[in-house]
Amino acid sequence: MKSENFQLQNYNTFGLQAQALVFFSYSSHEDLCSFLKNDFRRDLPFFILGGGSNILFTRNYPGTIIHPETKGISIVKEDSDTVFVNVAAGEIWDDFVKWAVEHNFYGAENLSFIPGCIGASPVQNIGAYGVEAKDIIHEVHCLSIANQTERMFSNAECKFGYRDSIFKHEEAGKYIVLDVTFKLQKHASFNLRYGSLQSVIDESTATLQTVRDAIIAIRKDKLPDPKEIGSAGSFFKNPVIPKAQADALKEQYPTMVTYPVGDEHTKIAAGWLIDSLGFKGFQIGGAKVHPKQALVLTNAGDAEGSDVVKLAEEIQRKVFETYGIAIVPEVIYL
Ligand SMILES: Cc1cc2nc3c(=O)[nH]c(=O)nc-3n(C[C@H](O)[C@H](O)[C@H](O)COP(=O)(O)OP(=O)(O)OC[C@H]3O[C@@H](n4cnc5c(N)ncnc54)[C@H](O)[C@@H]3O)c2cc1C
Repeated sequence: MKSENFQLQNYNTFGLQAQALVFFSYSSHEDLCSFLKNDFRRDLPFFILGGGSNILFTRNYPGTIIHPETKGISIVKEDSDTVFVNVAAGEIWDDFVKWAVEHNFYGAENLSFIPGCIGASPVQNIGAYGVEAKDIIHEVHCLSIANQTERMFSNAECKFGYRDSIFKHEEAGKYIVLDVTFKLQKHASFNLRYGSLQSVIDESTATLQTVRDAIIAIRKDKLPDPKEIGSAGSFFKNPVIPKAQADALKEQYPTMVTYPVGDEHTKIAAGWLIDSLGFKGFQIGGAKVHPKQALVLTNAGDAEGSDVVKLAEEIQRKVFETYGIAIVPEVIYL
């Protein structure tokens, strides 16, 4: 389906109003190829939009939004230990996790309840509770936007990093993810080492469903439901700084939350930095820092994208002024 001057309010979890000059959604690869060959305006910018859960529309989008709505989850290969599951880009991420849990396949459960679609999962290398998409992605099947040839990226070729992949660097803007093949385990293997999980789940009695339920409960308690309060989840990335700088800061601010990254670097909890400056509940225009979780910026009702930008800039400025640390948005500005 192709529309012009299309309202995107229901296509971004901030719930911000913005129009796309052209909006194209498709549910078959044939429709996508035909659009790219015959109808695609190469003189305009374009953007592949999944669930819009990591996007900040700062203005009307002056180009083409391409939105996959392809569906399908199928087992493509299995042996006694592992199963390979292919999932179409337009599937909702959490529907896949639910499916895996119901089929007794291990590996995706810690990523329960992350909003968004399958197509974004390798781009973002989504992560939560000690697991990242990279831990279960086998390969990523893509279509070249330039010439509609197909290309398979192995896990290694995706060059995954923290919320990062090749699709944000060398291959940015070149491919549409068509589907992703995940490698899951048939035998129980949980990853329950992550902080708050340990205290609520007993590994000796854990099942896939109890782990999923516990994670959903923790997430519901901590994060606003985008259906009720607009947000894009964690707004900023956790900064990684040299260990020496972190050690000095930790001496000055002993409650600062830090995680070692190798021998020479330290990750700092961006939420701690923001919270420590008293930002919880702070508001600029219609944009507000979530009172329960300082890392989440929300739409308090009638926010414009520019309100969120101003709020983010104020937080970045104060964090840098106080701690000498530059925090950068995880959310993509459009
Ligand atoms: C309440 C809340 C909680 C969240 N919690 C987490 C969390 O715990 N961990 C985490 O990692 N993230 C989290 N997020 C962020 C978000 O859910 C993820 O980044 C998610 O992967 C975005 O998926 P999406 O389909 O909405 O992608 P979008 O926001 O629409 O797009 C994200 C990026 O993926 C690209 N993209 C999307 N689909 C395709 C495709 N088919 N082909 C090529 N590129 C594509 C886009 O171009 C863009 O660059 C949270 C967000 C919210 C609102």
